[in-house]
Amino acid sequence: MAIGSEFATKKSDRSSAKPAQLEQATGRGSMIPDLQKVNHPLLFENGAPGLCAVNLPTLDVPTTDKKAALPAELIRTAPTPLPEVGELDVVRHYKRLSHRCFSVDENFYPLGSCTMKYNPRVNERVAAMPGFAHVHPYQFESDVQGMLELLYRLRCDLAEIAGLAEVTLQPAAGAHGEMTGLMIIDAYHVSRGEKRTKVLAPDSAHGTNPATCACCGKSTVSVASMPDGRVDLDDLRSKVDENTAAMMITNPNTVGVFDDQIAEIAEIIHAKGALLYLDGANMNAILGITKPGDFGVDVMHYNTHKTFSTPHGGGGPGAGPVAVAEHLVKFLPKPQVVKHEDGTFGWDYHRPDSIGIVRSFYGQIGVLVRAYTYIRSLGRDGLRDVAEKAVLNANYLAARLKHRYKMPFPPPYAHEFILVPEFESAGVTQHDIAKRLIDYGIHPPTMSWPIHHCLMIEPTETESLATLDHFVEAMLDIADEVENNPSIVKTAPHGMPVKRLDEVAANRRLNVRWQAES
Ligand SMILES: *Cc1c(COP(=O)(O)O)cnc(C)c1O
Repeated sequence: MAIGSEFATKKSDRSSAKPAQLEQATGRGSMIPDLQKVNHPLLFENGAPGLCAVNLPTLDVPTTDKKAALPAELIRTAPTPLPEVGELDVVRHYKRLSHRCFSVDENFYPLGSCTMKYNPRVNERVAAMPGFAHVHPYQFESDVQGMLELLYRLRCDLAEIAGLAEVTLQPAAGAHGEMTGLMIIDAYHVSRGEKRTKVLAPDSAHGTNPATCACCGKSTVSVASMPDGRVDLDDLRSKVDENTAAMMITNPNTVGVFDDQIAEIAEIIHAKGALLYLDGANMNAILGITKPGDFGVDVMHYNTHKTFSTPHGGGGPGAGPVAVAEHLVKFLPKPQVVKHEDGTFGWDYHRPDSIGIVRSFYGQIGVLVRAYTYIRSLGRDGLRDVAEKAVLNANYLAARLKHRYKMPFPPPYAHEFILVPEFESAGVTQHDIAKRLIDYGIHPPTMSWPIHHCLMIEPTETESLATLDHFVEAMLDIADEVENNPSIVKTAPHGMPVKRLDEVAANRRLNVRWQAES
């Protein structure tokens, strides 16, 4: 099956529009005002006293005096400062806000290292089936056999894709999977009477890798990369020792290069008794083509929300199943979903060497149902096709852009690549280009990581040739703009409700609390 055509997004009017046309469609001369630009009041400024969005039936039980029922300090002295609004006010308010979202359903979203692919609707249909959506974690195993079977089958599928022995579905995200993986690695060393405190990671590692190490009481030692993006083996040899618990590596890595020395890296690591951990965020590039277990990986996590398509971003939801090799199976978290000899399914709590429970109940179930649906709807050949098309699309973009943008690492690339705009003389940075892309209906790519001044572009397999070409044209147009009229790029975006935000202040000094007027 051809994923590219099957799941290709149709180029929407919005994404194909050039900035000038956008202006025309929404600007002066039209009878209809651009509602996005009307300055709507906040919900708190809306409404009037007495308005209400819900009508409750008259009480049919006796009333109690709140003073008799509650301790005095819990009773409010003034009404809660909430807006009083009608149902329609609420609906319009949130519907309008939703139109301000930039989503993968509407626009191209080439956010490197994030795999923002189209999320097939069949996943949503299956996850919403009452038998999956309405089960409760406290139900008897005999009542939820279908759910348990799904989880068991997913566990087995993920182990097969990894080429490893067994999988836990508990971790709630990639970073949580990393933590679970390091705890398993630690338990392994402790079981051999060793306490190892050092973890190696290439200098291109994702920020969660060293953060995980810090959480698990390990120190991170950075391993140098060569100019072609692969690990410098001499540097690796000089840093690995008997105190090394593991090396955490992403392959293909975050500069979009598959490190073909990976089997040798595994040997170097294993020779010192350390383990090889794979950050599996980039599995989209190698699904069905190679298996981490085959190239020497002992532990890995998946980001099912990336590779196996759950809508994600803004912090969730996700799932980070962890796969381990045979010698680590006994350390996996408990409970583990199992198939009994009589063919029924259940939870196994009797795992004396387990690192314990890493998440309440059994994992991020809705995300896991979507991942299973995705895997089964594509099948073995379909998954391989995903990887082949993801790689093809990335290399196509790189080949078309290389004449105007510097590519610091040599092709071929995996599912993503890095380019560095060299427009210093015009005073234009990667940040300006990312902002200008918004005017072309394209989400800004990942920026300034893993090297300075770069853009990291991951088109994914689900984009049509037309969308890829639109992106190329936008990038080439922007390069022309930089030459002819750099200020239009430096002051972008021009078609959004807000322009450039102080992102650091917005994150550091978050204020989501509404203050009642005094
Ligand atoms: C996304 C990502 C992570 C973290 O995964 P989350 O699911 O966001 O916690 C780790 N490593 C790499 C390379 C990633 O791209």
